Amino acid sequence: MTQPELPAAFGLLASAHLGGGRTPTAVFATRGRHSRLSERLGPQTVDAVLVHPGDDCAKAHASDGDTLVLLAGEIYNRDEIHDTLGTPVDASDAELVSGLFAKYGTHAFRVLNGRFAALLATGGRLLAATDHAGSVPLYVRAEPGHVLAATEVKALTAAGSTVRGAPLPGARRVRGLPGLHQVPAGTVFDIRVETGAVAAHRTWTPPVHRRLVAEDEAVDRVRAALEAAVVRRLPGTHRPLVVLSGGIDSSAVAALSDGAATAGIDTLSMGTDTSDEFPQARVVARHLGSAHREITVASADLLTLLPHTVHAAESLDPEVIEYLLPLTALYRRMGGPARRVLTGYGADIPLGGMHREDRLPKLDTAVVRDMDTFDGLNEMSPVLSAVAGHWSTHPYWDREVLETLTSLEAGLKRRYGRDKWVLRAAMTDLLPAETVNRPKLGVHEGSGTTASFSALVLRAGAAEEEVAAVKGRVVRELFDRTVAGGVAPDDIDIEEVTGKIVAEGRG
Ligand code: ATP
Ligand code: MG
Ligand code: MG
Repeated sequence: MTQPELPAAFGLLASAHLGGGRTPTAVFATRGRHSRLSERLGPQTVDAVLVHPGDDCAKAHASDGDTLVLLAGEIYNRDEIHDTLGTPVDASDAELVSGLFAKYGTHAFRVLNGRFAALLATGGRLLAATDHAGSVPLYVRAEPGHVLAATEVKALTAAGSTVRGAPLPGARRVRGLPGLHQVPAGTVFDIRVETGAVAAHRTWTPPVHRRLVAEDEAVDRVRAALEAAVVRRLPGTHRPLVVLSGGIDSSAVAALSDGAATAGIDTLSMGTDTSDEFPQARVVARHLGSAHREITVASADLLTLLPHTVHAAESLDPEVIEYLLPLTALYRRMGGPARRVLTGYGADIPLGGMHREDRLPKLDTAVVRDMDTFDGLNEMSPVLSAVAGHWSTHPYWDREVLETLTSLEAGLKRRYGRDKWVLRAAMTDLLPAETVNRPKLGVHEGSGTTASFSALVLRAGAAEEEVAAVKGRVVRELFDRTVAGGVAPDDIDIEEVTGKIVAEGRG
């Protein structure tokens, strides 16, 4: 199974209400056309806006008169769903969700492997569902008689609200916006529109068990799972684009894409005037014969995109923002028609790649912690690339790959003095030895982003030991202004914000 070049919709905003209402104003960082739809389902009316890349978004919604499904993103286990439901092969992802709901009810969301946020309205209920990883963020505001849901916080702030919204036990609140909650990863919020009452159902949890597997068996499993995930993400007859650093994670995705894509692949690397990984990426591009391109961004220009990164990711985590900033710059500079982009993002989380830790108990503790705390960071958000019209997808966070990697015992992740050993071993026949053996280098390190952000903070007058705390406050300020406050990121001067934060720390 392959994918269309782009999903039918990238984002959505919906209002489910009992009384009269109007279609809310739609504000998204995601670029695309807006299509409106309105449907009456029993006692409730749903008014929605879909933001989509193509001329129409017919495949992003499905209705049979009783149930309306709205879907932003895409599904990867479509073949298996077809087998189960016996649906026509050209059924849309939204129709598959509708069919699964008819068969399994709320449990439908437990069988999906995808990158999506979905809304399903039926009777007096609105279901708001995330994929296993919450990789397409989804936010709700549930008031009696009126429920709002959207894939971006700023869409909900702009849609306005008269009531403050009820507190929602167990759900993450959104900073500075009372009554607004993020649907957790792998969760369905089952909301009664009349009362605004929410019941949360988990549909996925990170595995905490670990498998003792022979080396060969582990290597085979990782290779097979990753290959299947890559193939499920390829755009049919179109050429996929892989964002490539020359690190093992993205190089593996590039090699497997190249092996499966009929028309060959494009690869793209970014660097800055201070730092890049261009030589290492070129080794891989040459080895695969990909059409390769490099984009160099001035570090000063990179920093001006900090507000844009926070605005797109809607994340409050300064480290995550440092990972995502160079990618934001890359996507914004890509130009050309909208593309399907495969990344090597996220491999380090289940494999403990960034911990540089030899002691297995500590390594596994770190993996457990990272798998417990990823939710809400929005690291995988499609909005990063969708601000420039592109669709990104992350094979390592495919549900099956993520489960396979997470559940391997730590000694297969760290072995023979190597990090991510099992992944490296799984790729030895497809990549040059220097790539397979290359030590991990984070995107924030390889692009000099962390150093540039630190230099900005120090220039503003902060002391060395204050740098981390100031970065955190800068990111919060950017969130308050661009996400909660509705200020356009272009109108924000990052030097001014940093100076203000440092001065406040002094005061
Ligand atoms: P490793 O983690 O071993 O360094 P990696 O470089 O592929 O492997 P990360 O550093 O974790 O992975 O970066 C995450 C992802 O972001 C990469 O897999 C790649 O898709 C993308 N990326 C990182 N750096 C660059 C870059 N300089 N140019 C283009 N894409 C990049
Ligand atoms: Mg990595
Ligand atoms: Mg890297």
